[in-house]
Amino acid sequence: MKRQIYQQLPGFNCGECGYTNCTRFAAALVEGDVETTGCPFLLQDRFKESSERVDEILSGKTWEGAEDAISTEEEAEITGLIDHLAADFVLAPLRGEPSCREDLHPFDWAIHAEVGDILRYRPWGCPITHFAEVLAVAHGIVTVHVVGPLHRLGSEIAWKNVGLCMVVGFEGLVIRGDVPDVGATVRFLPEHCMMGKVHSGVIVHSEGDRVRIEGIDLKVW
Ligand code: SF4
Repeated sequence: MKRQIYQQLPGFNCGECGYTNCTRFAAALVEGDVETTGCPFLLQDRFKESSERVDEILSGKTWEGAEDAISTEEEAEITGLIDHLAADFVLAPLRGEPSCREDLHPFDWAIHAEVGDILRYRPWGCPITHFAEVLAVAHGIVTVHVVGPLHRLGSEIAWKNVGLCMVVGFEGLVIRGDVPDVGATVRFLPEHCMMGKVHSGVIVHSEGDRVRIEGIDLKVW
């Protein structure tokens, strides 16, 4: 059911609903923790049909064509929301984590990030300001979970402004598409990306459905 609902959500991963991304909002709908109206976009005319479908799924009904939509989605290309580029797979968070892990290299050498800090930064090549929690710091690389835009964190939260950062790595689970081999150059869609933008990179570790991708680029190869 969660997947059927997710298919109907806008896919902006913007956090306006108070959840990290659309997947988590779909899970909250299934659990009954939130109403469809929690996503402000579903109140707009352009998503009226989607909103009605979500309500039907939650009430145990199915809309005409639901089965076709699911099988079509299974076979459909994975495409970026704004660039419409094809991706090889969707990258989801590691189990129990709020977002895929990102490795950052801040351009400002004077930055002193510590585990638990909330950082404000803009990834090189991305127009969106991110907020993220530091998981580890080693050899100039800061590993984070993306946790916001700021409105999702609340105005009271203290954060460090680290400016522009190179995003050098991602780690997460392949949830749609084939798990790639080590050494493959891939196009992937991070589930938490607020632009739904396809990224490219090279697989440096692949174990089960878990992958680590480095050489990240927003210009897709
Ligand atoms: S589009 Fe934004 S507000 Fe709507 S469900 Fe997705 S993350 Fe939440």
